[in-house]
Amino acid sequence: METRSFCIKDILKMTDEYLNKKGISNSRLEAEVLLGNVTGMSRVELYVNFDRPVADEEKSAYRKAISKRVNGEPLQHIVGLQPFRHINLKVKPEVFIPRPETELVVERILEISRQLSGRLKIIDIGTGSGAIALSLAYEILDSYIYAVDISETALDLARENALNLGLLGKVFFIKSDLFENIDKEVVSQVDIIVANPPYIPTNLIENLQIEVKDFEPKEALDGGKDGLGFYRRIIRDSSEYLKSGGFLVFEIGDGQSERIIKLLKDNNCFEKIQLSKDYAGKERIISAVYRNQQL
Ligand code: SAM
Ligand code: GLN
Repeated sequence: METRSFCIKDILKMTDEYLNKKGISNSRLEAEVLLGNVTGMSRVELYVNFDRPVADEEKSAYRKAISKRVNGEPLQHIVGLQPFRHINLKVKPEVFIPRPETELVVERILEISRQLSGRLKIIDIGTGSGAIALSLAYEILDSYIYAVDISETALDLARENALNLGLLGKVFFIKSDLFENIDKEVVSQVDIIVANPPYIPTNLIENLQIEVKDFEPKEALDGGKDGLGFYRRIIRDSSEYLKSGGFLVFEIGDGQSERIIKLLKDNNCFEKIQLSKDYAGKERIISAVYRNQQL
């Protein structure tokens, strides 16, 4: 029996319409990423090969991927990869998918790094896939990074990403509940402490989009009753590790800036508090300089 053979162009058009109908906003892009993943082609290659027929095995793998996607599974879990700034990170369901706005946290740290000198010592608290830590290790040549997470699975993934990027020699991984297992004798006089901690108030997690609430690990999202639990602890303990003149840099959630600035001010050891916005114009990053009052 003869069956109609669809080419790449037809398939992309059909899935674009289908995903769009299912409420997926970047439907065309997602169709291209998923088809590229099953055919082993880049998006550019798909365009160059628009008239190439899609083989039956590819079609069936593609169909499976599309059905996962319309059930809410994040695109990144299906393809297992997420580009982040200049690097590609492997991702998996047990570990938080790095977000585009977090790229701006790295951007802010690069700005800060230009004001500092010598080999930079940086701690990334809650490293997840290693997005922030590995980008910094990749982009700041003279740097040494401590990547910390409470999740062994996240650390294993971050380590694997570091290996793939040839960065193992610059990044040291520590399994710890925030600063608990970071030895003050070994890790001191730190230039920058950065964190994108869990910041969603517990009772709001259920309101997040399905890709997040059903597919991201809760421990990566849950910031406690008011969403600020991790900021309180990090602000309290970071002074034990930062050098005077070193920076604390946070990614923050929508509407949290004033309360976090107050936490920093109440601590009395932080000055030059600066807020930056994300691509959507939301306040997303706070940085502050630590001053050791005893010096
Ligand atoms: N930094 C990554 C990024 O920006 O893509 C991941 C951020 S994710 C929102 C928060 C991370 O904090 C998760 O990887 C989670 O496992 C970790 N985490 C949660 N509680 C922690 C704790 N008490 N100590 C250290 N890390 C923790
Ligand atoms: N930006 C994430 C989200 O709302 C939350 C990340 C976090 O808690 N740090 O999907």
